[in-house]
Amino acid sequence: MSDTPASARSGAPAKRTAQVRPATEGWTQKKDAEGRPLLQFASPKRGKPPVHLADLTPAERVEKVKELGLPGFRAKQLATHYFTHYTSDPAHMTDLPAGQRDELVAGMLPPLLTEVRRLETDRGDTIKFLWRLHDGALVESVLMRYPGRITLCVSSQAGCGMNCPFCATGQAGLTRNMSTAEIVEQIVRANRLIAEGGLGGKKADDHSMERVSNIVFMGMGEPLANYKRVMDAVRVMIAPQPEGLGMSARGITVSTVGLVPAINKLADEDIPVTFALSLHAPDDQLRDELIPVNSRWKVDEALDAARGYFEKTGRRVSIEYALIKDMNDHPWRADLLAEKLNARGRGWVHVNPIPLNPTPGSIWTASEKDVQDEFVRRLNDAGIPTTLRDTRGKEIDGACGQLVATTEDEAAAAAMA
Ligand code: SF4
Repeated sequence: MSDTPASARSGAPAKRTAQVRPATEGWTQKKDAEGRPLLQFASPKRGKPPVHLADLTPAERVEKVKELGLPGFRAKQLATHYFTHYTSDPAHMTDLPAGQRDELVAGMLPPLLTEVRRLETDRGDTIKFLWRLHDGALVESVLMRYPGRITLCVSSQAGCGMNCPFCATGQAGLTRNMSTAEIVEQIVRANRLIAEGGLGGKKADDHSMERVSNIVFMGMGEPLANYKRVMDAVRVMIAPQPEGLGMSARGITVSTVGLVPAINKLADEDIPVTFALSLHAPDDQLRDELIPVNSRWKVDEALDAARGYFEKTGRRVSIEYALIKDMNDHPWRADLLAEKLNARGRGWVHVNPIPLNPTPGSIWTASEKDVQDEFVRRLNDAGIPTTLRDTRGKEIDGACGQLVATTEDEAAAAAMA
């Protein structure tokens, strides 16, 4: 299909002509030998995090407990403490033999995340956590209460190797992949906080037991670049309690900037997670600059893979589209996006435009309200269900592509080490 907009082909006058090109601000993008933005797919070798119960299958947990000199059934007791009571504290595990409790917990539930800081919005219904991993790497997660659900945005890598020029996380490159248990532990820690009443916004007369209901892999990292650990973490999330967290796969959103072979693999997993493609541009000319991985897999290939995901799973796909003033918010781009989505069938996709944070003086700033509305209207009129997404978390730099440890965070982490 041509990337020339339908409006241009039909001779209709373009409403807006300004075209801001993506460029980094205040930092230099690392380049490869050919001068293209460097993409890092492999995790740099670093000391591995300690093996944790959440890294193991139920059978492996039993084996490990036996190695520690205890009967295998203790594994299930430990899993119950961890996945249903969200505790790793031996003092709470009175059903375990007192003499061996500490050793068992040290062997099976080693500490993985040290909380460095916690930022809350005024009402306390959005909380950003900064965690230090065992080797000093820093990652973040954001907990958000919405009506009827509690969502946790989790990280899957420390840093990111995808080098997107707008993204704070991508600037420092990929530090390393997170382990399965490090990914899961973010949820357990959030659930612990919720159980302790630490998340604001709960009505005084609501006495229900609450926990994280939805997961979005939109924190630090490209989840599909850490495929095996992310999928193992998803399996732990959906395994029934007490062997896992007993969550619904449909409440878990795996997003990607478009690693096509991994999207195809995900479609074959037979796990009905929600799949989101962070597209941000419908034309290769812009997307090559905006999302460097587009040099490997083009817009049409990514959309074909997304459509393939729908065909295999029957799950409607989300297209994420950050609206950036004069860069990707042109009416013709809305039309081209609609054209490309409709060319692949009806009813398989919806679009979530996300207004970027307003940043005065930056080329990376929010589209104007009327431009946002026009973009949404054109897609809806073309039959593509489109809704502007909540940008919750922006007050605390927790919106997508905003998660990055600041020098202040690093100083706080160093002071704790
Ligand atoms: S936008 Fe996403 S994929 Fe791109 S560098 Fe940032 S975290 Fe990585």
